[in-house]
Amino acid sequence: MIVQNGFSEVFITLHSTHVKVMKNPIPQTLILFFVSFSLNAQHTAGQIYYGSKQYVEYWAGDLPLIISVPHGGSLEPTEIPNRTCATCTTVKDANTRELGIALHAAIKNAFGCAPHLIISNLHRKKLDPNREIVEAAQAIPAAELAWREFHDFINAAKKAVSDQHQRGLLIDLHGHGHAIQRLEIGYLLDTLDLRLSDVSLSAPQQVNSSSIRRLAGDNRGRLKLAQLIRGPYALGSLLAEANYPSVPSAAMWSPSLGEPYFNGGYITRIHGSQDNSAIDALQIEANFMGVRDLASNRSNFAVELALALKTYLAQHYFAKIACKTVSTSAVNQANYQVFPNPVESELTLQATAAIRKVLLFNALGQIVFSSGNTANQVQQIDLSTQPKGLYVVSFELEGKVIKEKVIKQ
Ligand SMILES: [Zn+2]
Repeated sequence: MIVQNGFSEVFITLHSTHVKVMKNPIPQTLILFFVSFSLNAQHTAGQIYYGSKQYVEYWAGDLPLIISVPHGGSLEPTEIPNRTCATCTTVKDANTRELGIALHAAIKNAFGCAPHLIISNLHRKKLDPNREIVEAAQAIPAAELAWREFHDFINAAKKAVSDQHQRGLLIDLHGHGHAIQRLEIGYLLDTLDLRLSDVSLSAPQQVNSSSIRRLAGDNRGRLKLAQLIRGPYALGSLLAEANYPSVPSAAMWSPSLGEPYFNGGYITRIHGSQDNSAIDALQIEANFMGVRDLASNRSNFAVELALALKTYLAQHYFAKIACKTVSTSAVNQANYQVFPNPVESELTLQATAAIRKVLLFNALGQIVFSSGNTANQVQQIDLSTQPKGLYVVSFELEGKVIKEKVIKQ
């Protein structure tokens, strides 16, 4: 969006469509443009698409890889009450949004093309896209809409992958709080399944209940399920070789009896190939220390995971992957985000590095907010008491000063 001469002329760029609006103040129709989107539209690799109020976002790609990040959001809008179900988990998976974005960048470097990335920006107190809609959204319309958008974006990505590559793999990315610092890889098989012999683990009952059923029935090396899960070219084995201990893997077939282990949830079940559809899925539950705690550790892990995925796809799926290199502009822009925009109350700044010196200016150029010396990757500004209108938020990111225009409505 470009604003010239104060409020008198506003240009919006929305999916390459230029809309020029004269007049003052900013009309309602213009604001509707910001929040409107179409799930049915053809998505272009390299572009980012948003659901209503930016609660959900989809980075369209063109690789046969889809990454979903359901639990890394931090938005807590008042229009969605906190989930109150007695057995609901409402803890955020810390830094997984940032890890997903780092993984997107690392995959793009490793493959030369971008994966699909779907992120929920809502805090898990408000929405859990990794549950069926009743437990996920607690019958709150705005949460139900975000839930549908999240899964519609995954379905759009799956369709793009099927159309372009016939098959593919979805990685559902999480963070666990278990004491043992290792990656937990989930194929919908439990600890007892994983403790079976190779022959029993590869039997139809286990194959048909796994989230990589399609791959088990059709892979380049004609490997059995047990080899795909704990052979030398299993994802866990490739990651363990890169010094990220993983279960299951060649070195660690299964958790010990009684040890906590996440083997996959709603997303892995619904979007994977348990129903023998074209897209396989697996869940990665990342430990905190050394993997998702610091930006440098996230970026190192993302590089190793991207390389492991490259080997995994080459070994099991594709002799060659045809894709177009996407422009880097969308990725560069996405080093940070300012959302929602327009904003009603809480504005969130989120980046892949520390955000410093946040200032908010009103239309008269007066500073109405200053963050002082804090340096976090997520910063929030409360605009609820500010008058409606145009603001400019300014901040430093990796030594560069960035300015973004924001509309308070
Ligand atoms: Zn999670």
